[in-house]
Amino acid sequence: MSIGDEVGQRKTFAIISHPDAGKTTLTERILLFGNLIRSAGTVKGKKSGKFATSDWMEIEKQRGISVTSSVMNFRYDGYRVNILDTPGHEDFSEDTYRTLTAVDSVVMIIDATKGIEAQTLKLFKVCRMRGIPIFTFINKLDREGREPLELLEEIEEVLDIGTYPMNWPAGMGKRFLGIFDRQNERFIQYNGNEEETYIPYSELDQPEYEDLVSQGSYQAAKDEFSLVEEAGDDFSLDSVLSGEQTPVFFGSALAPFGVDTFFDTFINMAPVPAPRRSTEGLVSPDNQDFSGFVFKIQANMNPAHRDRVAFLRVCSGKFERGMSVTLSRTGKQLKLAQSQQFVASSRDTVEEAYAGDIIGIYDPNMYQIGDTLTEGKGGFEYNELPQFPPEQFKRVSAKNVMKSKQFYKGIEQLVQEGAIQLFHGSRGGSFILGAVGELQYEVFQYRMKNEYNVEVLLETIGDRIPRWMKEEQVDDSLFDERNMLVRDRENNPVVLFKNEFSLNWFRDKHPDIELIDLFEVN
Ligand code: GDP
Repeated sequence: MSIGDEVGQRKTFAIISHPDAGKTTLTERILLFGNLIRSAGTVKGKKSGKFATSDWMEIEKQRGISVTSSVMNFRYDGYRVNILDTPGHEDFSEDTYRTLTAVDSVVMIIDATKGIEAQTLKLFKVCRMRGIPIFTFINKLDREGREPLELLEEIEEVLDIGTYPMNWPAGMGKRFLGIFDRQNERFIQYNGNEEETYIPYSELDQPEYEDLVSQGSYQAAKDEFSLVEEAGDDFSLDSVLSGEQTPVFFGSALAPFGVDTFFDTFINMAPVPAPRRSTEGLVSPDNQDFSGFVFKIQANMNPAHRDRVAFLRVCSGKFERGMSVTLSRTGKQLKLAQSQQFVASSRDTVEEAYAGDIIGIYDPNMYQIGDTLTEGKGGFEYNELPQFPPEQFKRVSAKNVMKSKQFYKGIEQLVQEGAIQLFHGSRGGSFILGAVGELQYEVFQYRMKNEYNVEVLLETIGDRIPRWMKEEQVDDSLFDERNMLVRDRENNPVVLFKNEFSLNWFRDKHPDIELIDLFEVN
């Protein structure tokens, strides 16, 4: 098969949601389609107590969670599917954001009983800023949830994206009857734990369905659906692919209900790898020369070997085990001898890979997050990894001042690796660590002790809203505890606002000072 044919089979996506919306449940259903697991309830150790997808670090074992995003791949319907897991909740970290730079589309799960929640919003912003196509699955229709119209309105308003309902639910919770499947022109009947039934629209007037269609909630839904069909936006694949319209599917991951239809439609509609921007212009995925970028580095996968694995998103050409590549940042030649592909809980050696695939390569402490590897002339870099705004800040120091050499070395390496972000007090001196989630501090603390033999003290500054500013507008008299001035690694001035209120107050008082939100500039 040609490189172009291989690329045309790749569907690489992530599932994003707020904790408890049903990501694990939906992922398991999808893995069942791929025959990757035999029964639902096996992916996450937390609930089933069976096994977790990885246990590379002590911290993971203690908490029973999977610290870093894992990758699952399988064949389905002629496609090669790559699913990148995004950790959620207290496991939330910058890795979660970075994972989104390595996918071509995203499935966003929304809990019908709750609507859009905080973490969904944050992840959505990253997708939006990168123009990633978003497919929405509104979950838990088997429970009393919010009105479908209200949910669509919320998505449009809060997320500022067009919606196109792919199906329309009749009732919810105890009165849930099923969904009108627009694309396939059929009603999919919900039968509780029994298999769903498919009734073509043309057969709904037959006597055997009278019980169904005579119900009040069926009629009400049908009327509402007719209105949506008339008044709603038209479907536009172009808008979907540019991230301006999201196809919305209603269903239940647990039942399961509507999941097959959702996945079949999604997998056909989701984009295959597209050309990616580099310092030398667009690089096509079917370009003959291999290229890719590192979006994550995972240390200590095996504590006995202290190895590190760099996760690489292949962007063009063909990866072959043992091939020689150039690391663009240094110009150095490397041989990629040890490579792995990740399938749920196991790691297999990978011999070849194409654009869209994610591979793990052995890292002899050489790679940095964002590094580009190329074959042939290469020399370009993918600028895929914007800096993400941290939300929590802590002062850090070494418990034992005699250990300051290791302390500096450890911080430097872990910051470079992207484990956490480093800031300085405005007058130099104190080290301040910024993170997106608490877990990053735990991992930092653990690794400083285990890899650099330094115990660190962390002193909470708390949740803050960081805003970058222009050097020429910095004036010491502007700042205090509520709006603290610090410096990032490049010495750029950053104000840490205590809350929305102090940010707004500052804005009102100093309208001429430009405050930059990283989410908006990236
Ligand atoms: P995650 O935190 O997003 O991975 O969510 P889980 O998949 O672990 O689901 C959270 C809880 O919601 C679990 O108790 C699931 O059984 C439940 N759940 C998931 N999907 C559904 C659904 O469609 N209907 C109902 N009633 N519960 C669901």
